[in-house]
Amino acid sequence: MGNKKEKGESIEQENGKLGVDDLAMFCKRKGFVYASGEIYGGLAGFWDFGHLGVELKNNIKKEWWSFHVTKRDDVVGIDGAIITNPKVWEASGHVASFSDIIVMCKKCKKSNKIDKHEIGKVKCICGGEYDFEKAREFQSMLKTNVGIDGFAYLRPETAQLIFTNFKFVQENARMKLPFGIAQIGKAFRNEIAPRDFLFRMREFEQMEIEYFVNPKEKCPYAIGNSEIFVYSAEMQEKNKKMEKMKFKDAFKNGIIKTDWHAYWLEQEYLWFVGLGANKEKFRIRQHMRDEKSHYAYDTWDLEYEFPFGWKELQGMANRTDYDLKQHEKHSGKEMSIVIDEKGTKLIPHVVCEPSQGVERAFLVFMFDAYEYDKKRDNIVLHLHPKLAPYKVAVLPIVKVDEKLVEMAKEIYCDLRNEWNVLYDESGSIGRRYARNDEIGTPYCVAIDETSLKDKSITIRERDSTKQIRVKISDLKDVLRKLLNSEIKFEKAGKIVETRVK
Ligand code: ATP
Repeated sequence: MGNKKEKGESIEQENGKLGVDDLAMFCKRKGFVYASGEIYGGLAGFWDFGHLGVELKNNIKKEWWSFHVTKRDDVVGIDGAIITNPKVWEASGHVASFSDIIVMCKKCKKSNKIDKHEIGKVKCICGGEYDFEKAREFQSMLKTNVGIDGFAYLRPETAQLIFTNFKFVQENARMKLPFGIAQIGKAFRNEIAPRDFLFRMREFEQMEIEYFVNPKEKCPYAIGNSEIFVYSAEMQEKNKKMEKMKFKDAFKNGIIKTDWHAYWLEQEYLWFVGLGANKEKFRIRQHMRDEKSHYAYDTWDLEYEFPFGWKELQGMANRTDYDLKQHEKHSGKEMSIVIDEKGTKLIPHVVCEPSQGVERAFLVFMFDAYEYDKKRDNIVLHLHPKLAPYKVAVLPIVKVDEKLVEMAKEIYCDLRNEWNVLYDESGSIGRRYARNDEIGTPYCVAIDETSLKDKSITIRERDSTKQIRVKISDLKDVLRKLLNSEIKFEKAGKIVETRVK
């Protein structure tokens, strides 16, 4: 890593901008993400998560599950196997058509993946022409051996296990339409050109919901007033600019075809902004006619403006009853359910399938959190407290004072019963604050000589560097309220003069 730090810039940034490679460098330097097997040169498309990365990733998954499953009456979860009967992938259509088009650039000779509708229309990023005559299809599922002569696929998405378990879950959890089944888990795709750090990987995780409805029934949930940039298929075809509008109005004006789709698009956007993502960097983009999967009635992507352009963050297809019907046909097992007292049967429709890559969400939260603070001459990672790897750091001001260290360790042991807490006694207090700012710890607890006398400590807030004095007996309660954003920092204790920023 070359140190390109200029005055007023962080080690990673150039011209004040944080590119995806810069973020990768930062993630490696601090212990978030490493190239997998890096001591052997790594393997393209595979990444390992370090001691901070695993915490952030787990927190993302926990928050997703809490928002989409735990806090809803109408969604339950499953955890399907990565390897399943290959017939599942025949029925779903993946064996026949989960492939990419590969083209080679005549100039740089690199192979690239393009969408089917781009054949004959696009150029390589180096500016060279593609050799479209030699374009070929490439199966994207990875294969593995099972037993002595068997083979199977590593699942390319989690969704199909939801469909194959649909009847069991519906019956056992006694779900009535409308309802959803959620799943978080690994997926594998033999991407031709893995790139942009965690954006395009070969092994990644998905957080998915299949939401089943009776297509004749309306969405009972309100579509709220939040606004987003909307980029409909028509706007794209007519070369128009995207427009900011309310989700509600996009549905009323017929841009989003169903109320359910508008509802879920808004929910997914709200999940991101509720965890601190920058509102202005989101848009919803409708798939154009030649881009949509053959079975989809309507597909919208939630997109985010990455440093490398607007890209898909989450796909949301209206898959109708395609998948359940396919599995009914191929397995011979009935997939319809009884929907009323008269015994009417129906194969439910998947009105929306929010499908989010964990690592793409990881990138969004990191890009939006990273700030080089010129005053502090230090990176501050403004991660939402719910996502921050460590919630609190416990720092005894002087490490030579045994009594003070003992008190700090007692506080640390007590706090870690509830949160992931960092204990740090090395270096100046300023250096320790800076280290915690860089890894996104929202609060630092400093124990000083006065603490031994008055049994109180100082809490320092990452984002403002303000400090308050709080009694040790109140510490857990105050931290709980702060971490749940139930109280303003200034109101949580007595503000004290900030000696060390
Ligand atoms: P793309 O067009 O970017 O290849 P896709 O349309 O193939 O994505 P989906 O099949 O809709 O993606 O998958 C749902 C979600 O899973 C994506 O929105 C993304 O968040 C995540 N995802 C898909 N492929 C990858 C990948 N190779 N690496 C990381 N995340 C991925």
